[in-house]
Amino acid sequence: MPGLDLQDLVERALGGQQVAVARLISIVENAGPELREVSAALTPHTGRAQVVGLTGSPGVGKSTTTSALVSALRARGRTVGVLAVDPSSPFSGGALLGDRVRMGEHAGDDGVFIRSMATRGHLGGLSWATPQALRVLDAAGCDVVLIETVGVGQSEVEIVGLADTTVVLLAPGMGDGIQAAKAGILEIGDVFVVNKADRDGARRTVRELRTMLHLREAESGEPWEPPVLSTVAARSEGIDALADALDEHRVWSEKSGDRDRRRRERVRREIEAIGMEQVRARMERVRGGRELPGLAGQVLAGELDPWAAADRLLDDAG
Ligand code: GDP
Repeated sequence: MPGLDLQDLVERALGGQQVAVARLISIVENAGPELREVSAALTPHTGRAQVVGLTGSPGVGKSTTTSALVSALRARGRTVGVLAVDPSSPFSGGALLGDRVRMGEHAGDDGVFIRSMATRGHLGGLSWATPQALRVLDAAGCDVVLIETVGVGQSEVEIVGLADTTVVLLAPGMGDGIQAAKAGILEIGDVFVVNKADRDGARRTVRELRTMLHLREAESGEPWEPPVLSTVAARSEGIDALADALDEHRVWSEKSGDRDRRRRERVRREIEAIGMEQVRARMERVRGGRELPGLAGQVLAGELDPWAAADRLLDDAG
């Protein structure tokens, strides 16, 4: 971006200006050359936001719940960021439509930052771009950042690794308790929501989930027993209770050290992803370079083994 005053942009983003925040996330998404500087400038201002992941099968009501939750959190005076991650789409352009649809209700509210991201085919996928976008929203002063997966994808579970608090959504008949256990989602939820409670079978699903979670707790002896709530997101029913549950989990996870453990793990993965990307970029630089044919000749002549040749290639790629 020629003529871009990065420092000014960062300052404005730290001040919570939406346009600046959006531009920084674009830089992150496009992995522009400014990324390193942006990251260095933002990191000292992070760590305050509670990162909440929402996961569940397509159609269960994640978008509806997210939007209702934004309203509930705003009513409590919280600043809210929303990252809608689409792991199945390679098109960042999809972000525009997504943002517009989602923004509707919250348009003009300068305490809400909504952004869609496409991650398929993106450098390290979710593990690379999303934590950096989170950092932008965190530094911009969001009290809560909601990450929601859109589209179909196996990456739903990946989101868990990014969140301080994970909300698993189910709907009656779609993913009742037993299916949930099979899918392994009992392990990942800190808060369970049975949405579409206006439909038949919701109470049974809640009951089954409670029983199974209780059994799991008894086995593992973990001190946090995930609550099972029921909501009708389309009418904002039960959403206040969900906001309460998020608060309770935040307080518990800070006190218990669980939050710090998760964050440490998250950053570890992020560093690895950046490291891998750098190694890959180095290899790209030397592939097709002048040195490779020479090394190949040496290996063919029996003067060098291929491992030593690879070492030399990487050393030279610095
Ligand atoms: P997502 O794919 O998980 O993000 O699901 P959406 O939020 O897009 O919702 C899928 C559909 O379910 C939409 O047509 C919503 O209007 C509808 N929906 C969401 N919440 C409820 C609810 O509580 N009750 C009922 N009956 N429908 C709902």
